[in-house]
Amino acid sequence: MLLHEQTQALLDVLPEPALLVAANSEILAVNRALLSELGRSRDELVGSLLRDFVANAPAQAAEYVRSCTRAQERSAPGTIALKPNSGEAIAYRADGYAMRIGPAQSPCALLRLTSRGRNEEFLAILAHELRNPLAPIRNAMQIMRVAEGDVATVAAARVIVERQLRHLTRLIDDLVDLSRITQGKIELRRDSIELTKVIQMALEIARPQLEGKQHPLRISMAGEGLYLKADAHRAAQVFANLLNNASKYSAAGSPIRLEGRLEDEEIVVRVIDEGVGIPAEMTERIFDLFAQVDRPGHGHGTYDGLGIGLTLVKRLVELHDGSVMAESDGADRGSRFTVRLPRAAAPNLADVHPPEAPTHTPGPGLRILVADDNRDAAQTLALMLRLDGHEVRAVHDGAEALLAGDSFEPQLVLLDIGMPVLNGYETARRIKGRPWGNQTYLVALTGWGEEADRSKALEAGFEHHLVKPAEPGALQAIIDRIVAGG
Ligand code: ADP
Repeated sequence: MLLHEQTQALLDVLPEPALLVAANSEILAVNRALLSELGRSRDELVGSLLRDFVANAPAQAAEYVRSCTRAQERSAPGTIALKPNSGEAIAYRADGYAMRIGPAQSPCALLRLTSRGRNEEFLAILAHELRNPLAPIRNAMQIMRVAEGDVATVAAARVIVERQLRHLTRLIDDLVDLSRITQGKIELRRDSIELTKVIQMALEIARPQLEGKQHPLRISMAGEGLYLKADAHRAAQVFANLLNNASKYSAAGSPIRLEGRLEDEEIVVRVIDEGVGIPAEMTERIFDLFAQVDRPGHGHGTYDGLGIGLTLVKRLVELHDGSVMAESDGADRGSRFTVRLPRAAAPNLADVHPPEAPTHTPGPGLRILVADDNRDAAQTLALMLRLDGHEVRAVHDGAEALLAGDSFEPQLVLLDIGMPVLNGYETARRIKGRPWGNQTYLVALTGWGEEADRSKALEAGFEHHLVKPAEPGALQAIIDRIVAGG
């Protein structure tokens, strides 16, 4: 029927889930967004009664629909929880609109649904998670102020700040990565890399968490020379997330195992813990965005997190043409995560360069110019570099950087990109036009680490591109290179 097709087409363009329901609660039409959220087919829903798909208070939902059909235009929003094909009910805020359709002008209600449970709850958890580390940081700073002369106390407070900052950085990195992946913006740099290397990098990342809870860690690698075609950083992130979780969801001191081997020409890595375990019905869903296991008796706060770590794991593994799955024998029986990745050929030996020997010889200090419109960022970076024996000027805009550079003639310039008057790219171009510009090494410091940003920076004349907050090691490596005359 033409009318039906038109209604269907209109509903389908709505980005949010929506459905059309008759006054007697018969479902007349559903849109694509709703079908995909519920994982159900149109045939299942259309012609059925809404109450068969309502998880809580079906009578109340029917009453809401009836009141919508009677109302003038738009009704006050209601709440409706719908049963997906599998897994837990999804709670929606429903906005009801009275409609009359068909030759008989039969009253019905258009319900537009917003998955309120998820969005609102996510924002609340996010705010909570981001605020959590701030209290200990503030306390630690207060301790440092009061106990200024007491070296041991100040050192203990510093460890707390470092730990909390690491936690905060990880949360934010996960969020940023996730938004990149969902926009299809993540770029992998895949090389042949040995599995043991990747695992070492993962252990490096997970070490603070693992050491904090003193887990005996057993690593077994079967088979020599297992190579992956992988972006080493991203692959390490996968195993680091699994190791972090293995620790987070087990008691302190409980053992964690990591096993790597070749099975059917695939590289298989298992991370096994003896912790709280995962209920059978959740082993697939935990990879969904924001999915967390309800564990009665463990209030929020016992397990912190946003429910995005495993989503990242899954997406990253899939970007590497692999798969990941979770298994558990039930509550308190531990969990086992298995990652499978295609095996790559060992790299041609001629292509392998011996690693450069570390060359950190605290040579003479450099003249360094720092430009960042975030004054605290500029001042702290300058202070750090001064403590390392360099002569440093800090300015807060590109225009100031050019002025200061003309008299100071820095050997290294660290430029923020987003600055108000003259941005980093333009500043870099102009520096390259100055007489001193060819003798100086330009490093971009930005919040954006995508490949496009990197190439834009290189085009503008930067020799290097570091993502903020720059790791002290990465900056040191650049300084070493300049000191060594490279
Ligand atoms: P987060 O840890 O931030 O909640 P994740 O996406 O990393 O988010 O994990 C999703 C959920 O999966 C967790 O909330 C937790 O309930 C469960 N989970 C993950 N790893 C384990 C594990 N090793 N043991 C038990 N449960 C786990």
